[in-house]
Amino acid sequence: MGLGEKVHAITLSPSMAEPFLTFSSRRDLRETVWRARVQRGAHSGRRDNRPVAAQIMTLRQEQAQLHGYASYADYALVDRMAASTAAVSQLLSSVWEPAKAKADEDRALLTEMANALGQPTPIAAWDWRYLAQRVRAQRFELDEAQVKPFFTLDHMIAAMFDCAQRLFGLSFVEQHGLALYHPDVRAWEVRGPDGALVGLFLGDNFARATKRSGAWMSVFRSQSGHDGGVLPIVINNNNFAKASPTLLSFEDVKTLFHEFGHGLHGLLSQVRYERLAGTQVLRDFVELPSQLFENWALEPQILQRHACHFESGEPIARALLDKLQAAQRFNQAWATIQYTGPALLDLALHALPHGTSVDIAAFEEQQCRALGIPPDIGLRHHLAHFQHLYAGSSYAAGYYVYMWAEVLEADAFDAFREAGDAFDQATAQRLLRHIYSAGNREDPAQAFRAFRGRDARIEPMLVKRGLRAAD
Ligand SMILES: [Zn+2]
Repeated sequence: MGLGEKVHAITLSPSMAEPFLTFSSRRDLRETVWRARVQRGAHSGRRDNRPVAAQIMTLRQEQAQLHGYASYADYALVDRMAASTAAVSQLLSSVWEPAKAKADEDRALLTEMANALGQPTPIAAWDWRYLAQRVRAQRFELDEAQVKPFFTLDHMIAAMFDCAQRLFGLSFVEQHGLALYHPDVRAWEVRGPDGALVGLFLGDNFARATKRSGAWMSVFRSQSGHDGGVLPIVINNNNFAKASPTLLSFEDVKTLFHEFGHGLHGLLSQVRYERLAGTQVLRDFVELPSQLFENWALEPQILQRHACHFESGEPIARALLDKLQAAQRFNQAWATIQYTGPALLDLALHALPHGTSVDIAAFEEQQCRALGIPPDIGLRHHLAHFQHLYAGSSYAAGYYVYMWAEVLEADAFDAFREAGDAFDQATAQRLLRHIYSAGNREDPAQAFRAFRGRDARIEPMLVKRGLRAAD
């Protein structure tokens, strides 16, 4: 390169590599980035993760054996709603074949697009995101820039409060003049249908240099029944870029609603013991209240009221909403395979009985072959850098929890659909009683059964992901 020539660097962080793989038309560079990402942690030498991972597995097998379990998966699943390796494996395998079948359909569309663009076929793993993005733009004519002006942060906060009001009769009254830790933080008093104080809700929504990234809910004080009752103080954190007004993408809106679902789980808690309050539930149950709440972000009656253009005040057009809905289901087979493959690997790895030494690379290769992972889709995480599994024990034999919660969430939202109203009062009351207020006072499987009248069914999740036609 000559002097003064511009040089760009792409790091392997997902926030840089993912958009690059999605939008760069340079196929050769996409391949370079893709290969470098896949091989993280799998280069021989001092930074090779594979022997460390194998050692962790040996220690986990030993830990499980000391507790009297045949495998680490058996040991870990005792404290989960799924309760057994068989239940998890049944869930994962029931999405696997439908996802592969749907991916075949999507692959045909992507191949057509590759031909139209004069790109080589069969398509490779470094082509999928790029071609999918081109197909999405063509089929749904959905441009983020077109949608964002309708989603101001303040309007979307009003929208989520409106949902909480319609479902649970909550009202949120902003409090000014409280001593809070940063000027960006806002506080609302939360009151129940009878006007009684329920708790305090804080929102810290903007990114700043000293704040960690991502979105999360945390609790400054948990609800409990002691000393005449302790009310919760709950906070939601986001990392939106501050602007006037702050405009959100639809993904951001879903994140806002997601964290608010956790927030309500903390606020609505009605248990005696602090240790069982709010979100202190089993790991494969905790995402139910949050993922469920995302559904209301797409509710037309809510969006038509609150999603108004920040300049003209015009409510969002129905046609744009429909496009937004349809785009949600696009390319879900790819996302399902990318996620389910690693979840199956995680389970298989932790189900190995005590005393099995593992060659991480060989194990992964053999499992991928047995599962028939489509090479042009691949895995979201490989065993040499699967941080969920090794950074701590919470997600060991536990990567499946997102999908488990999604089954519960999609089936729970279907209860409202069956009742013919997204805010049906009888359904909302059951949801409040058995899920949002219940903390960990009841066995989660029983709590779900009490809410739904039966065990969760997997079909609504398959429909939601577009892997199965609606009945
Ligand atoms: Zn969550």
